Parts: sequence; C-alpha cells; structure tokens
Amino acid sequence: MTDFTMQKDADGVAIVTWDVPGKSMNVLSLDGAAELNALIDDALADEAVKGIVITSGKKDFAAGMDLNVIAGMRQGGAQAVFDGVMTLHHLLRKIELAGMDPKTKKGGKPIAAALPGTALGIGLELPLATHRIFAAENPKAKIGLPEIMVGIFPGAGGTTRLVRKLGAMGAAPFLLEGKLSDPARAKSAGLIDEVVADPVAAAREWVLKAADADLVKPWDAKGYKMPGGEPYHPAGFMTFVGASAMVHGKTLGVYPAAKALLSAVYEGAMVPFDTALKIEARWFTHVLMNPSSTAMIRSLFINKEALEKGANRPEAPDQSVRKVGILGAGMMGAGIAYVSAMAGIKVVLIDSTQEAAERGKSYSTGLLDKAISRRKSTEEKKAEVLSRITATTDYAALAGCDLIVEAVFEDPKVKAEVTKRAEAVIPQDAIFATNTSTLPISELAKASARPDQFIGIHFFSPVDKMLLVEIIKGRETGPRAVAKALDFVRQIRKTPIVVNDARFFYANRCIIPYINEGIRMVAEGVSPTLIENAAKMMGMPLGPLQLVDETSIDLGVKIAKATKAAMGDAYPDGAVDAVIFKLADQGRLGRKTKAGFYDYDDAGKRQGFWSGLASEWPEADTQPDLTEIQHRLMFAQSLEAVRALEEGVLEDIREGDVGAILGWGFAPWSGGPFGWLDMLGAPRAAGIADSLAEKFGPRFAAPQLLRDMAAKGESFYGRFGAGKQAA
Ligand code: NAD
Repeated sequence: MTDFTMQKDADGVAIVTWDVPGKSMNVLSLDGAAELNALIDDALADEAVKGIVITSGKKDFAAGMDLNVIAGMRQGGAQAVFDGVMTLHHLLRKIELAGMDPKTKKGGKPIAAALPGTALGIGLELPLATHRIFAAENPKAKIGLPEIMVGIFPGAGGTTRLVRKLGAMGAAPFLLEGKLSDPARAKSAGLIDEVVADPVAAAREWVLKAADADLVKPWDAKGYKMPGGEPYHPAGFMTFVGASAMVHGKTLGVYPAAKALLSAVYEGAMVPFDTALKIEARWFTHVLMNPSSTAMIRSLFINKEALEKGANRPEAPDQSVRKVGILGAGMMGAGIAYVSAMAGIKVVLIDSTQEAAERGKSYSTGLLDKAISRRKSTEEKKAEVLSRITATTDYAALAGCDLIVEAVFEDPKVKAEVTKRAEAVIPQDAIFATNTSTLPISELAKASARPDQFIGIHFFSPVDKMLLVEIIKGRETGPRAVAKALDFVRQIRKTPIVVNDARFFYANRCIIPYINEGIRMVAEGVSPTLIENAAKMMGMPLGPLQLVDETSIDLGVKIAKATKAAMGDAYPDGAVDAVIFKLADQGRLGRKTKAGFYDYDDAGKRQGFWSGLASEWPEADTQPDLTEIQHRLMFAQSLEAVRALEEGVLEDIREGDVGAILGWGFAPWSGGPFGWLDMLGAPRAAGIADSLAEKFGPRFAAPQLLRDMAAKGESFYGRFGAGKQAA
C-alpha cells in the first residue's frame, strides 16, 4: 500500500500526492509518514528537482492523524509515544529547512502545499511546515486544528508553529477551541497564504520562482520576535496570565489537554524553535498517556463514528427515508421537520389545525433566516428546504410516506388515535416511530396493526442542536424497523444509540437521578452554589439545579407524579418532590417563567439563586466535603447506567458512553460513565457506592454486576468493549 506518490515533471517540480488507498479521506499513519520522508529525501537529493508541491489525490487534503494509530502508539508506553512524535517533528522540520545551508540559509528547495479541500489536524500541521500554503476556492472546506475536541492538542509542531506565526492571542481560538475556518477566513486569520482556483498550478508556479529568502521562516531568521510578545514581554505577560485564567475558568482544571497545551506554548515561547518542538512533544506525550485522552478518543471519535456507521444495525437492505410524515407540529415535531427537510427528505407536517401546522413549518423559516443573517445559508437554499415541507391537517397527505414520526401530546389516547389514522393511509411496509419520552413503546405499539414495524425514535430538545437520537425497541419491534430508524438518523447526521424499552429508556433514566440528587441536597441544607460548582468541577456542563430550570420544573412535577403512580409505595423521591412541588406552587417553573431555582432578568438572563431558597431550605452550618458531593452526583448517574446495562436496556457500553456525553453532557473528559468507572476501577467504585449507600440510602448500593467485576478485577471495556454483548 502506498499513501504518497511522487511525479517529477520536465520543469523540475516534484508533485507529491497523498492518496490513501481505500479511504475517502486521507489520514496519516506512521507508515505513511515514513513514505513521505523517503520521497522528500529523494526530491531534496535530486539535482533535477527545483521545488516540491505536496497535494492530495482526493477532494480534500487530509482529516488528520489516524486516531486509531494514536490509540495504538500508547500501547508502547511514554517513550514510544515520544519517539513517534519526534519522528514526525524531524520529518516536518526537514521539509521546513528544505536542505538550506544552516548558516547562510541559502540553497533550499521551495516546498508548497496545495489543498483542494478540508485540511485538519496533521493535515494542517504538514502544510504549516511548508513555505507557502495554497487552498482551493472551496467554501465547504474546513481548515483547522480540532485536536482539543478529543482531549489532545496539535502535537506535530502545529502548536509551536502557529503560536510563532500568529502570536499566542491570535493562535488561541484555533488551538484552545479547535476553531475551524473556510479557506477565505483561514487566509484572513493567517493560517494559510493564498486562496486560488487551482492550488496545484499556483503552487507549482510559486516554487519555480521562489527566492532563498521566501523559504526562511520568521522564527529561523535573525531577530525574530513573537507577535504579541513573549511571556516576559509586558504585552505577552498580560496575554499569558489572561490565557491561563481563561482556560482554567472554562475547564475548571478537568481537561488535561488544555492545560498541557498552555504549558507547551508558555515554555516553548522562551526557548529556541527546536527545543520548543521537544517541549511540545513532551507535553503531547504527557496528555496522550493520560487516561482522559484515551477515554475521549475512544468515545468521541472511534466509537461515535462506529455507531454512526451502523455498528449495531441489523442486516437489512438500504432503508433511507424519502418521505417522512410528522404527526404533531409542536416544539419537537417542528424541529424534526426542519432536520429532515435539511437532509433532503420530503416532509408532511400534520397538526390538528392548519394554523398549528403552519406555525410548526415557520420554525424552519426562522432557523433558515437566522442562518442567512449569519451568512451560513442562502435565500435559494431556504426556498428549497421550505418547499420540501407540506404543512397540513389532512392525513391523506401521508400517502406514500415510508416513515412516520409521531410527536403529538404525551397522552396514550391521543397517540393511539393518530397511530390508527396514519396507518389507514400509509403504505403497508412503512415504519411508524413515536417520539414519546416517557410512555413504554410496547404499550403504544398496541394501537398499531403492525407492531413489528413500530419503534421509538427519541429526539432531544432542541432537535436542531442536540446530536443524539435514542432508538427504542419495543417487545415486538422487528429488525427492519431498527434499520430504518438507524438509516434515518444517519441521513439527518446525528448519532444513534439503540436501547430496549424500559422506564425513561436510557438517557432520561440517568439524568433524572442526577437532577434529583442535586435537589435532595438543597433540601438537606447543602449550599446551592456548592452543589452547582461541584458538578461543574467534575466537568458537567450544567449543575443539576440549572439543568432542571432549563428543562422546566413542571415537567419534573409531571414525571414525579406519573412515576409515583406507577411505583406506589416503592417510590423513593419524596424529599425531592417536597422541593419541586413547592417551587411549582409558587409559579417558579424554571427559565420559561423566568423564575426557578435561579432568578432571571426580564430578558431571561440567569441571575443569582432565588433568595427564597435560603429561607425555605436554610444552608446548614457545616457543609459537606466537595468530593462527597461530586461522588453523589456522579454515582447517581453512573450507577443508573450500570443498572441499565445489567437489565439489558443497554446492549453495548459504547452506546452507554457516547449517549451519555451527547445526550446529557456527562463529563466528556471521562469518556462517559463506563469510562469513568473504569478509571476508578471496579473495586474502588463498588467501595465508594457502598459507603454512599450506608450514608445516603440504598439508591447508591453497588449493582451486582459491579460487585462481580470488582471481585474478578474486571473493567467495563475489558469485559464488554467493542461490541461484546452484555449479559
Ligand atoms: P407540544 O405540545 O409542543 O406539541 C404537540 C403538538 O401535537 C401540538 O402542536 C398539538 O397541537 C399537536 N397535536 C395534539 N393532538 C394532535 C392530533 N390528534 N393530531 C395532530 N396533532 C396533534 O409537545 P412537544 O414538546 O413537541 O412533545 C411532543 C412529543 O415529544 C411528546 O410525546 C413528548 O413527550 C415528546 N418529547 C418531548 C421532548 C421535549 O423536550 N419537549 C423531548 C423528547 C420527546
């Protein structure tokens, strides 16, 4: 297999083409890097070669380093990682110095990068080592360094080069936030040099006329000063102190990559370039050896992609949706209509009045108008998307729909009625899905004449923003319905998990105990500020009290009442209800009423806690230890995830982890609840659970599965990893 090939033309330009066989996108492997190294050696040594252009044989340049390779490098230990990274540094430095005389800086061969499209991660780090970067006029292309999003940072010189090129402040959004830009924006930010119609032709022309001075990078020239100042320069000092505070404020210390990145930048800024590369490699190794980066790469990249590609899809012919009927044009139905139409699917959007159906359609108009005002869409695109949505009250319009998504009121009677009405019209082989959040799928399926074609497709709100879709199999749901749901989710570009039918399915089942634990603590007199900060310091995006304000307190009341009715005397959450019922009685229903656990101003902006909290539930004189609060909040969610696995609701821990991060923001640094419990180790996790159970009640008792694993010294990924079935 050859990833890189080289052709030398009559003018003396060597064109190196990156084209990894069998893949739609180039990714760099260590073998690929060795091939590139050999070609560069050949071209630099060949007197007939005057310059080199590095490009791609695909429509994009490259998606980055092969993250599976990164995961593999770790197996060899820290020294192997460091050596692997230094090999890349030597290759890129060789390209940058291009054979020039070290003293006179003359006699090097110009090397340019020609990017036809997207260039991410090492796909930008490699071009940054060349002498000039040409990108095609391709507004769809994305250029940037997204490593931080999976818990690492650019470690093939991208960090050191970008900071020296743009200054710490200029490089910050690209390094710390993983900001991606289209070619035009990448050029104005200084990431690349030229945007042209034909980048290979332009790069070729450039290498043929480049002068010696064009090849010398600012940091290799005499008198180089870092833009914006180095750490001990007065301006630089402000930047570095500010950046450190900002990163800590945002990550609260739980993301090792952000901190390591800053250290690499700060320490690297004070030493010569080659030493800075070594420092970057050391910090990169440090991050790669941290279990958090392993867990993040596993859940947020490898497993997320596997699920999107249908890791758990039953064998069935292509089930792509052509025409979807959506019943109920309320908040959820309107959102589902929008994402479907955006994916090119025809939509029939039904409600009980024409006005309500139109209102549902106008939600799409609003989102598209907003996108146009941000220059993310056009009037033509808007017209095209809206033309796909038919808003009506007429069930006959559902004829020809191959999928129905029902999103009417959460009432079994209403749902049964619309199921029957739709099934009277739709084709015999159409699949019927319900978006219910609380009603058992198997019960709702009783209204259907074809229960094997009946399934749950549970979206999260707001539909256009939330990345996860939970697919729920009822008792009689057949494999084709699952395949249909998965193909639909792939069309609308979201990530699916497939679970079995049980109260609250998976995501809500785990998030409710988290919220409840926070509310319980308020009743116990724990400081609300302490509760919220403890959650955020564990990496939860929202504290439990803010979360319940967002999802609404009356929804909590409704769920509590229904759960109590279903469970009878076994119902365990009386202490929680006492708090939320009191808030609801006072009309404090959360953000939507601008009053909940928090106060809000007239514009709906969250202010401090409601002063009434302190008088209703006074703070205790002695406050608990931070770790104890964090354990309560994290175990409330994680033990529920283990129970879902134990009971067979979850069939694959990969879905449990990916679903937790995308569905409710479970501490992404941990890779998800199973990843987190593996970091603790089963014996320690079971021990903490038992001591919490002793102090706070049986809801924390370690599930038998965790106990067994503790006894056998097993981990979740060891026992259930990569699709191994539970049970
Ligand atoms: P909503 O009240 O905003 O919308 C329901 C819509 O259904 C209304 O427009 C109503 O007019 C329409 N409707 C009612 N009876 C109808 C009938 N017989 N025929 C046609 N239309 C009818 O509710 P929502 O928040 O969009 O929730 C809809 C469903 O999605 C519920 O089952 C809910 O549990 C579920 N869900 C909601 C959320 C959420 O966060 N709101 C999340 C996931 C799932």
